[in-house]
Amino acid sequence: MFGKNWGIHPKIIIRLYTAVVRPIITYGALVWWPALTRAYNVQKLTRIQRSACAGATGGLRSCPAAALNAILNIIPIEHFIRNTAAQGADSERDKLSEDSRHTLHYMTTELRFGNTYTTIYPTREDWKRGRVTEADEVSLYTDGLKMSGGVGAGIYRKLEASKEWSTKVEHRRSKLCWPEFNRKRTAELISKSKKDIRRIAATITGHWPIGTQTCKMSLPYNPQCRSCKEPSEQETPEHLLCHCPALNKQRARHFGAHQLELEGSQ
Ligand SMILES: [Zn+2]
Repeated sequence: MFGKNWGIHPKIIIRLYTAVVRPIITYGALVWWPALTRAYNVQKLTRIQRSACAGATGGLRSCPAAALNAILNIIPIEHFIRNTAAQGADSERDKLSEDSRHTLHYMTTELRFGNTYTTIYPTREDWKRGRVTEADEVSLYTDGLKMSGGVGAGIYRKLEASKEWSTKVEHRRSKLCWPEFNRKRTAELISKSKKDIRRIAATITGHWPIGTQTCKMSLPYNPQCRSCKEPSEQETPEHLLCHCPALNKQRARHFGAHQLELEGSQ
């Protein structure tokens, strides 16, 4: 159906995966989700999602699944299955309950006499910039509207997958360029041409056939930078993006500076 440079557009590949393939995989998750405790099962499921993500981005075989998930804003399959199972359980519980309102009466009561929360009044701008909730916090928000029998409230927590991605020790380069799951940024990326998506994803993940990466792909290997031909310079994504003197002009044209520093790089 698709190759690196031909076939259906990445946007359609992602839609097919999330709307057709993933629902098939997660069918009956409410019953079988405990199987996720076995790493072998998670690996098998991750491999299916990874092929869809790699197909959409034209990623190399070495490209890590976690980075592709973040770039395409597709949560890791094990998280998705757990969420689906939890939603299924919630729905079943509501069907059995006489009270049709979504109450939280299944929560256990625990008495805490210390003040374990803070009250803040965020502005619209704060919400837009994502400065309201930290990764490990749960926020309860309300507009104070009272109805008979209670006050409406919402619960907000940052996506577990995003938290996991931002705290990962591995994939430093990908995280510098793509620090969190971001729906808008993904939408902007996948609106581009197939070729551009492949180039951008390869640049972000650093998995393209240059320098040491070619060695991993069993291709002729030459670590020296082919652009500046400096014997001491290795052909790495950081070198090409930020420091290679042969690319100073292009860097100045696109980024406004001859040399760049990746924030957080050492
Ligand atoms: Zn160079």
